[in-house]
This record gives sequence, C-alpha cells and structure tokens, in this order.
Amino acid sequence: MKFKSITGTKDILPAESFRWQYVERTFRELAHRYNFKEIRTPVFEQTELFARGIGELTDIVGKEMYTFRDRSENSLTLKPEMTAAVIRAYLQHNLGQQQPVTKVYYLAPMFRQERPQKGRLRQFHQFGLEVIGSHQPEADAEIIAMTAEYYKALGITQADLKINSVGCEKCRPAYKEKLKEFLRPNLPHLSEESQRRFESNPLRILDSKDERDRELTDAAPLQKDNLCEECNEHFIRLQELLSETGVSYTVDGRIVRGLDYYTKTAFEFISSALGSQDALSGGGRYDLLAKELGGKDVPGVGVAGGLERLLLVLEASDLMKDSDRKPVVYLAAADNESRTWLYGVTQQLRRADISCDTDLLRRSLKAQMREASRQLVQFTIIAGTGERDRNEVTVKNMETGEQQPIPVGDLAHYINQQLSDNGNDGEKS
Ligand code: AMP
Repeated sequence: MKFKSITGTKDILPAESFRWQYVERTFRELAHRYNFKEIRTPVFEQTELFARGIGELTDIVGKEMYTFRDRSENSLTLKPEMTAAVIRAYLQHNLGQQQPVTKVYYLAPMFRQERPQKGRLRQFHQFGLEVIGSHQPEADAEIIAMTAEYYKALGITQADLKINSVGCEKCRPAYKEKLKEFLRPNLPHLSEESQRRFESNPLRILDSKDERDRELTDAAPLQKDNLCEECNEHFIRLQELLSETGVSYTVDGRIVRGLDYYTKTAFEFISSALGSQDALSGGGRYDLLAKELGGKDVPGVGVAGGLERLLLVLEASDLMKDSDRKPVVYLAAADNESRTWLYGVTQQLRRADISCDTDLLRRSLKAQMREASRQLVQFTIIAGTGERDRNEVTVKNMETGEQQPIPVGDLAHYINQQLSDNGNDGEKS
C-alpha cells in the first residue's frame, strides 16, 4: 500500500475505540458533576497566539509547532496546547461578562513535532479544565481535586500529585537572580541545554532530567522558599484545601512546568507505570496570560492531561475492562426471498432501542449463524419465507439454545422482557 499514517500519529481502530469512549465518558460525566461546561475551539489558530501565549523561548514554540502558511500567506499553527486558545475565545466572546467565574473543560487533539516514543506522539489527545476569573486558591483546588477524582474514578492509584509555587511577577525576578547566582560558578559543567536556559528560563534548569544537572542543583534555592507574602499565603491555603478534600500530595520545589505564563501554583500528576514520559497531567495558574494576549487582566488556572498516557496506565495496571459494546441481536435470513422483509424487521428493532446486526453479504444461513456466534449476540432471529408468510420469526437464545416462534408485533417487547429477566437490561444498546 502506498499510503501510511504520518510518523507520530496513530489510528484509533474500531477494536480499541471503546477504551477512548470510556475515558472520555468518565471525564465528561465528572466534569458535569463539577459544573464545568465544554468548550471547543478550532484546530488551528494564528501562530502569534501561541508564540505570545506560550512564550517564544519555550520548547513548544521554539521547535515543536506545526506552523504553515495558508494560500493568503497567513501564518497558522495547529494547536500545541489548549489554554491560549481558550483564553482567546474567552476574551473574544466576553465570557467573563456572563458570569464572574468561567469553568470549562475540553477533550481535543494537540499537535507537537516531538521525537515520537512510548507515550509521546505528534498528534496526541488531551483532557483539560480551566477556571477563569478567580485569583483565589479555591479555584486551584477545584482543578486539582477534579483531576485527582478523575484518576480515582478510573481506578488509577498510581498517580502521585506534586505541587509547587513558582511565584509571581513580584517575587520571581529576585528569586531568578538568586538562582542564577547559585548556578553561575557551575555553569560550564551544566548540560548544554541547561546552559542555554541559563539566561532565558533558568527555572527550567531545576527540572532537567540530566543526572549531572540534578547533582549540581541539589542544593539550589527554590522558589517555594522565596515567595512574597501573597504567594506564600496562596500556597498554604491551597495545601489546606487539598488536605480538607482528602487529596494527597507532596510539595516538590522542582516542578516548574515548561510554559512561561505560569504564576503561583504549578503541579503535575506523575505515574510510575509510565517509564520516562511519566507525566500524566500538569497544570497551574496563569494570571498573566490574558493580558499577554492583549486582553483584560483576568486570572486563570487549569490542567491538561494526555489521554494516550492515561490509556497506557490503565492497560499496564489491568484496569481496562473489556467493555466493548456488542449487538444484542443478529438477524439471519434463511433464503434471499425473506431478506428484504427481515431487513424491515431489523429496522423496527433498532427503532425500539435494541442493538442489532444483520448480514450484508447475502451469505448462507449456516455462515450467518457462524457470524452471530462470532459477534457473541444474545439472540439470533431466523426467518425464511414460511415465517414471513405467518409474520413471525424464530428467536434463538444463544446461551440456552432454546428456540421460540414470536409474532413480529411482539418481538421488541419479547426481547426487552428477556433482557430484563436476565438482569442485563443496561447492555441493551
Ligand atoms: P503539557 O501541555 O506539555 O504540560 O502536557 C500536558 C500533558 O499532556 C502531559 O502531562 C502528557 O500527559 C500529555 N502530553 C504532552 N505532550 C505529549 C505528547 N507529545 N504525546 C503524548 N502526550 C503528551
């Protein structure tokens, strides 16, 4: 075959899509319980939005974006993350005017040209939450508590929450200087990447994965110990809120996150089931973002988590039940004369909310019966010209092998009755 999917992208095939539906459905239901409403934004935006919103000096903007020019020479970018797009939409549609606090969730594909590996793709999918309009730590807690609850709802116990505070525009500049003072004597011994970050984003040196960098920064001053009063108070209150809601966490002064716009709270959920790409999700507060995008001064806090990584954890921990939905009924025609009639019966059952399948290949009755067994249906309905003339069908219970003639007019009722007698009404469709 000539065509293949692009490196770093994946097809979600029919045999696995139920897994995606399960994690997405669980997320939507939970978001509803927390009163988050869904937001959907376009797949591409003006490049400038991400350059400004994420920061020119970040890895994402510097080397990972899918940027292209359209036929009118506009520079566009496939979204590498969602927060900048959400804030763009919030400002553009004045959502803040409708209510003081806007709570939104999303499930969407993101695009980054990274080196593909396990848990790292070029088109991947994120769930996310944003609370826009509150400066208070209660908003941070709302985001973190729901994320923790989501993992719990999926049965994931290995999701360790690490929280930190990265300060604000008042306390960060002085801290940055202090950190640089500390790093300067060892600058030539740091990794090349960290040396590059020394001027532009020295905080990121703290979350370097390089062993030597780790050793050399072991005793580095941390922002959490150098907060202004306001940031410190915020951080303490957040911890109290988390303790109050029973969310366990550890404080980790090295969680700094990749994006420039974070202020105060930064956090990550890590899973040891993931290997080197161990971040299940991450987020934080971004009080400077809306202004950076040329809008009003609106605070916000959010989280984004990878769905591929979530599925990896669920599979590794054997938490993914085989809950693929099967049709309940298979309709098999004994001869070609009765097929057309039986197709009408099939539609009647579907309209009565019963999940059915039937033969589309004009196979023999024997082959259709094999197909019914392969599909693991609970009932097979068989009809030939004799049944058609009497306006009835033969219903075979696939578990007991019992066969019963049923008038077509009573069929839907009969199947539903049998299903509820078996106590599996919920699997009906
Ligand atoms: P970030 O926006 O970089 O903070 O990423 C948030 C979450 O998205 C991460 O914790 C991962 O779970 C997921 N993620 C980020 N980049 C990728 C990628 N290239 N492939 C798969 N998942 C990713």
